[in-house]
Amino acid sequence: MIATAPAAPAVGDGPKTDGAVSLTGVTKSFGDFTAVKDLELEVASGEFLSMLGPSGSGKTTVLRMIAGFEDATSGSIRLSGVDVTRTPPHARPVNTVFQDYALFPHLTIAENVGYGLRVRGEGRTSRTARVTQSLEQVRLDHVADRLPHQLSGGQRQRIALARALILRPQVLLLDEPLGALDKQLREQMQIELKQIQREVGITFIFVTHDQEEALTLSDRVAVFNNGRIEQIGTAREVYEYPQTEFVARFLGLSNLIGGDLAEDLTGDRSTMSIRPERIRLIDREDAPEDGEVSLAGTIREVVYTGPATRYLVSTGAGADIIAERPNAHDPSARAALGRGDHVRVAWTPGHAARLPG
Ligand code: ADP
Ligand code: MG
Repeated sequence: MIATAPAAPAVGDGPKTDGAVSLTGVTKSFGDFTAVKDLELEVASGEFLSMLGPSGSGKTTVLRMIAGFEDATSGSIRLSGVDVTRTPPHARPVNTVFQDYALFPHLTIAENVGYGLRVRGEGRTSRTARVTQSLEQVRLDHVADRLPHQLSGGQRQRIALARALILRPQVLLLDEPLGALDKQLREQMQIELKQIQREVGITFIFVTHDQEEALTLSDRVAVFNNGRIEQIGTAREVYEYPQTEFVARFLGLSNLIGGDLAEDLTGDRSTMSIRPERIRLIDREDAPEDGEVSLAGTIREVVYTGPATRYLVSTGAGADIIAERPNAHDPSARAALGRGDHVRVAWTPGHAARLPG
């Protein structure tokens, strides 16, 4: 009888890995400071992967090693299965978009976009056709004859993208490319970037310190802390099921309850993370629903955020709880709950993420 192989461990609903980019045991030291520590990372072909983390966590260093601008101190880097650890940047099938765009000010938009092809010695006719196609991809074919200073910030950002895409890299590296844009334009560009990536089908590795941006754009998010990946998964996985306290806190607000209080509530001492939108606020005298756990408390602060209202509830049980309610129902009503109100916070333990260890 032939034994069947055990099922592969569940890896969520992220794309299957076929190794557009593989980092194995990659470490980068600057003198005696280690910026990136023994990193393992597999990025699938056509995937949109974000590297998310606070400033100084090593994101740019990883990107620069993939591009070849920085040598790994140890470990290996493969692109589509080919070892490029010692390959110079220009010979790698990758291209980089930087935050400051770096367009040539004295060249027209068409000349800027076609620059890389000219350097490669591509003929004028095919160059013109590809520049037009590339400008169409970023929906800016009508500005071909302008100079960079005649474009808005968002348009310049899209030109930088077109200039990188025209070389048809296997992998596009983007280092905080929307960081210089104001919030409204950034949100619009996020949607466009995602559409463009889907259309061209190129693997994107996108660096950001903005959690909302990473969640919005990515197939998967790698959360960086101190030169390591703390967790990698789909946006939903890292947000709903953080594996560490750092991830729970970095990706938005979280209530962390552990130790004696957790044991009293659920019979388990391990720390759980409950998102504020999972917390129900009810009258102090009301009973929670079947299966819910609850704590009595008093509202200390009420914060109106536009789409939602946030309540800070002190429970006196060793935990202050943040609860959030959408302002969905009656926009004209004042918050029904106010400071000093006696309430009860309730949640379903199944809606909490248990942090291992
Ligand atoms: P991030 O992009 O996440 O903000 P970086 O990768 O730029 O972080 O930097 C990670 C750490 O490595 C930081 O502490 C930074 O100061 C350090 N670092 C980066 N480049 C160099 C360098 N060329 N020399 C020395 N230290 C560096
Ligand atoms: Mg950086």
